[in-house]
Amino acid sequence: MSTIFSKIINREIPADIIYESENVLAFKDIRPQAPVHILIIPKIEIPKVTDIKGTEHAQLLGEMFDVANKIAKDMGVAEDGFRLVFNCGNNGGQEVYHLHMHLLGGRKMNWPPG
Ligand code: IMP
Repeated sequence: MSTIFSKIINREIPADIIYESENVLAFKDIRPQAPVHILIIPKIEIPKVTDIKGTEHAQLLGEMFDVANKIAKDMGVAEDGFRLVFNCGNNGGQEVYHLHMHLLGGRKMNWPPG
């Protein structure tokens, strides 16, 4: 089932898009949890981490990490460090069932996470 992120991909609702390629989109999180909080998503609808198929999606996931590194560098958080997060399912705290990588930076992160 499509989510709000499909509407962002299709430009049916607005988002602060900072990167786009044929396969990947990145935009600012609407409720930022850090000075830099970007969501990096595949354009195809993969609901969650447990739906990833290594052989089928390897290139796509590789591109998502390349995009994360590029954005971290462009937004000036690569050197000090940042956090990449995939929430999966109810206990993982996932709200939107369209695979997304959170890029969080610009402050010191805590561990363990809440
Ligand atoms: P999750 O909890 O890992 O599923 O994260 C979903 C994220 O999507 C949350 O951090 C939300 O703030 C974010 N989000 C939900 N709707 C929108 C939107 O319309 N634009 C940008 N970010 C959104």
